[in-house]
Amino acid sequence: MKQLQFEYTDKATLQRDLKRTSLWAKNAMASNVIFDIFTETLDTNELDTVLSLIKEEIPDALYRGCTTNGNIIGGGQSKNCTVIAATICEFPSTRVEIWQRELSAETEQQITDELIAYVKENSWVKGISMLVTIRGMSMTRFCDDLSRLPENVSVFGGGAFGADINNNIAYVFSSSGKCTTGAVVFTLMGGDDLHIKTTHITGWKPLGRELIVTRAEGSILYELDHKPAYETYYHFLKIRNDEHFFNNTLEFPFFYERNGLNILRAPTAANPDGSLVMTADMETDVRARIAYGDPWTILDEVRHGCIKIGEFQPEIIHVFSCAARRTFWGSEAYKETLPMQSMAPTSGFYTSGEFLRTSGTVNQHNVTLVVAALREGDRLSSSSTEFEMTEEQRSGKVSMINRLATFIEAATEELEQMAITDGLTGLFNRREIQKRISRAIDHRYETALIMIDADYFKRVNDTFGHSEGDDVLKGLSAIIRNAALDAGDYASAGRWGGEEFMVCLSGDAAARAEEVAERIRCDFADTEFALAGHQTVSVGVTYLRCDETTDSICTRVDEALYQAKEAGRNRLCVLK
Ligand code: GH3
Ligand code: MG
Ligand code: MG
Repeated sequence: MKQLQFEYTDKATLQRDLKRTSLWAKNAMASNVIFDIFTETLDTNELDTVLSLIKEEIPDALYRGCTTNGNIIGGGQSKNCTVIAATICEFPSTRVEIWQRELSAETEQQITDELIAYVKENSWVKGISMLVTIRGMSMTRFCDDLSRLPENVSVFGGGAFGADINNNIAYVFSSSGKCTTGAVVFTLMGGDDLHIKTTHITGWKPLGRELIVTRAEGSILYELDHKPAYETYYHFLKIRNDEHFFNNTLEFPFFYERNGLNILRAPTAANPDGSLVMTADMETDVRARIAYGDPWTILDEVRHGCIKIGEFQPEIIHVFSCAARRTFWGSEAYKETLPMQSMAPTSGFYTSGEFLRTSGTVNQHNVTLVVAALREGDRLSSSSTEFEMTEEQRSGKVSMINRLATFIEAATEELEQMAITDGLTGLFNRREIQKRISRAIDHRYETALIMIDADYFKRVNDTFGHSEGDDVLKGLSAIIRNAALDAGDYASAGRWGGEEFMVCLSGDAAARAEEVAERIRCDFADTEFALAGHQTVSVGVTYLRCDETTDSICTRVDEALYQAKEAGRNRLCVLK
């Protein structure tokens, strides 16, 4: 497998380049020649010229392409408007087919059904490269449908774009269809000797605390933590909703997990109602965090991606990089793609969205660099293909931004822990244990509550001093914590107030409530304190009834505790 790359400057030069390509193809007895054509202009004159010259020189050549937000060739950004990469397949077993279909919300199901049925019948297909016009359309269902393809088939690709990121018009075209908006081009490739390795690189890292998406519809993100989503950018980053909004937020997209993968979504604009227009769909209820990008961290991830690709010993590399990354890097965007060129000819474009199948599911990414490496035949040796990276990357220096982000991470984690912990005992505070009880009840899990109160505790303070009283409370808390830990993952213990404590057991653990309660009572009675000697607790236990609320179960466990006190203390009372 070989690739020749050229930029369109004039007819004569392209004619010469195409002659050279056809000679190479003949000499190699090529099984397929595929032209990738990427162009930054929506004016199709230049494209028409390029296509007619290709058809003249190699009438049966396969081609596919799209309009882009920038072309990548030779591992860097091209200066010319239109670029051409000709891939020559040398193995007779390699097969390539190009499909083009009109794509809309009405046709997407039909297209994916047809593709999946075909691929199931044609086991030679190993990978599908996809060029698609996606602006203004939700791709979530399309991606979910493509996830039904046979598991061994890779899917990767990018969304067509234009030079102006605010313009929704983009075209795809191919040897199987006209230049059109609202279409998808699939390149099906495979055969015994073709091998494909894909990976994705982001480099953006999450920062600060989690925000819950409380309202989102399609690509409109309305609310985070019940507040207009835009406020997050103003509150944490003082980014104003002005003409620089897109460029300012680009460095800080949202980061969340979908299908076990880290996904980035950048806002492209803020609406007057405080909602944000995102680069693609976001789901309600996901936990998102703001992420930051800094060159060093990104290049570090590029290095890891290159190591993976190097092990594969690629012959050619396709890259689909988000237009946001190009804007982020400015004139230095080549830094993250040039290392790949040092392994194999690297071409691609800046996209409006990147697609990749990982662990079975096809996902739409944003702010991401999707890499697909191809090779015909076996690896030549066991060693990896080496790659070159810039001096600054190899120096192993950690950027100041990276250090500050690590600092913010650690500080945020400490604050989050503090916000849910009781200072004296280290157990959950009242708010957190209440939240956990409510959560268990909302989910209608089997739930039991244990309420514990120190007996005649006022006397301990009065007789031995407040500090001894504190020690007794700490000792009791340690016993409660251990009993809860042993009860399993679905047990939480908190300080309800003063010398009162609450344990919430849900799921299977609920059935062991009385056993856990009795152990707390006995272990505490057996403990000897320095001045206060032996002390006791009274304990109430109750279980969740059908259709009841958090308030009513808490009232009943309090009643059980009261009855234990009334019955003489140092005992357990259960109200079913
Ligand atoms: P009963 O058996 O009926 O529960 O009697 P009690 O004395 O334990 O009950 P009461 O509610 O009269 O007194 C609770 C005492 O707990 C009063 C308060 O000073 C003490 N207390 C509450 N919080 C703390 C604390 O953080 N440290 C210390 N040392 N004492 C506390
Ligand atoms: Mg008490
Ligand atoms: Mg009390």
